[in-house]
Amino acid sequence: IKDMADDEAIQATNDDASECKRYAVQLGYWSDPFINFFVKQTGRKAPEINRGYYARVKGIEVFVDKFIKLSGGKGQIINLGAGFDTLYWRLKEAGKCPANFIELDFPSITARKCYHIKKHKQLIDMLNTEDGEIRFSTTDLHAANYHLVGIDLRHISELTNKLTQAEVNFNLPTMFLTECVLVYVDASAASALLKWLAGKFSNSIFINYEQVNMKDKFGQVMLSNLRSRGCLLAGVEDCESLETQQRRFTINNWEGSNAWTMVEVYDSLPQDDRRRIEHIEMLDERELLVQLLQHYCISVAWNGQTFKNLSIAQG
Ligand code: SAM
Repeated sequence: IKDMADDEAIQATNDDASECKRYAVQLGYWSDPFINFFVKQTGRKAPEINRGYYARVKGIEVFVDKFIKLSGGKGQIINLGAGFDTLYWRLKEAGKCPANFIELDFPSITARKCYHIKKHKQLIDMLNTEDGEIRFSTTDLHAANYHLVGIDLRHISELTNKLTQAEVNFNLPTMFLTECVLVYVDASAASALLKWLAGKFSNSIFINYEQVNMKDKFGQVMLSNLRSRGCLLAGVEDCESLETQQRRFTINNWEGSNAWTMVEVYDSLPQDDRRRIEHIEMLDERELLVQLLQHYCISVAWNGQTFKNLSIAQG
């Protein structure tokens, strides 16, 4: 029962993320015409939170764009713990869709996402269906190059089957995305997942966004950081530093890895866009933002030569 309560609390973190994104989009931090199909209302969020989400979404976009360019649009994106992410539709709108796009999350979340997709013609119409066929079940959706699949990522034995249903191709250049996900998976299950993916996809890149620098100056994991929305951050040990973030990939058979705090990511984003968003809301103390950004990072890991050593730098 305790585990089920934890799982429910973990699933609720998707509502938080989607609401924060919708609020920041509403204020004009970045454009996302699709988020409001998934989230109806949001309460006010603090300016530093909105800027943090801006850096998160834009920072991930930098790597997505590099992946699309390097794979010539012939790769596949696999979003693990995708929640209500709208990346597929944003890429589609920009004419940058990869060959296949697969989203995985708990069945209770994918069921809700299926419901929202079914309900909105604009979302359905953008699913690539030359033959017009979209297959739905309560929790899963299969279109020509978009697949939404319900699974507990801790159950590796089900992954092959679920990915095969989603028409995965193990030989294609592949990008994995985990945005605030691994920290909710206990360390041994997260390791098993990373190792399994490394063994199956030899030409791939993994983009991970999550907490970092979770220890205080006495070397203790900060207690306030151990819980998020009432659920234990099971994978918090891997969030200790940029180094542990990188190492968790290399010890699980990824060839190389790199990591940046969100302070570095924020400062690397195009200056005119940063200027623009810094005018949306007043933030008296930059220090507040820096403190927040220091506790999050983007780490990347790669297998094969194509995606080796990609950096956060633009271009
Ligand atoms: N990636 C999305 C984003 O950034 O907007 C959602 C982030 S939300 C903080 C974390 C997501 O990870 C939730 O949707 C949750 O259900 C999913 N998740 C966590 N543990 C999972 C597991 N073991 N199996 C499947 N999904 C999981």
